[in-house]
Amino acid sequence: MLQRQVADRESKDTTMRIRTARFPQVKTLEDFDLEHLPSLRRDVLAHLATGTFVGKAENVILLGPPGIGMTHLAIGLGVKTTQAGYSVLFDTARNWIARLGEARHSGRMEAELEKIRRYKLSTIDEVGYNPFDQDAANLYFQLIASRYEQGSATVTSNLPFGRWGETFSDDVVAAAMIDRLVHHAAVLTLTGDSYRTRQRRELLAKDRAGRD
Ligand code: ADP
Ligand code: MG
Repeated sequence: MLQRQVADRESKDTTMRIRTARFPQVKTLEDFDLEHLPSLRRDVLAHLATGTFVGKAENVILLGPPGIGMTHLAIGLGVKTTQAGYSVLFDTARNWIARLGEARHSGRMEAELEKIRRYKLSTIDEVGYNPFDQDAANLYFQLIASRYEQGSATVTSNLPFGRWGETFSDDVVAAAMIDRLVHHAAVLTLTGDSYRTRQRRELLAKDRAGRD
């Protein structure tokens, strides 16, 4: 009975952590079709899924073309992290910047960074879709620097590191940021077809077969 009570409490805590993580949708690694993505090393994913990287304040960087499953994987890893007992906060790069910009505007930048640091894992989705001006790049740099060796980040980007200078309109800031991010990190470079495109192709093929 005690065991059941402990299990109930753990699952309640996990449910709460999933809610506070603000995932855009809850997606799981169990629902991820690995067959579709041979470029993703299963042993690496299985290791990350244990959540131990969060205990060591390590990062996970997912790089690849749109539709490859980066957001799904980032959410799935986030869910695993909540199950491992850690708090998570998910947002897009654009929203992280907006949040920090507001905090700075009202003079509570440090307090905000401190608050964010309380989450053991922060997920920063979609770096590279929106170009950032130098000011935004500096905010973003502060976010990364404030977590360096203290908390984990999962970052997804459609751009290889070599092009981050373009998106942050500053090569030096981009290089300094990448340096901190990858110092203790698993960098997963994903290649292959967009899952969305494949699904569409399969639907079209089925539709055609149905009409024949
Ligand atoms: P990205 O962030 O890389 O652009 P997403 O993670 O948003 O792509 O994936 C696009 C859609 O396809 C989502 O609905 C996602 O759940 C699904 N998807 C992508 N890859 C896979 C996969 N290997 N197995 C199952 N669903 C996938
Ligand atoms: Mg995405």
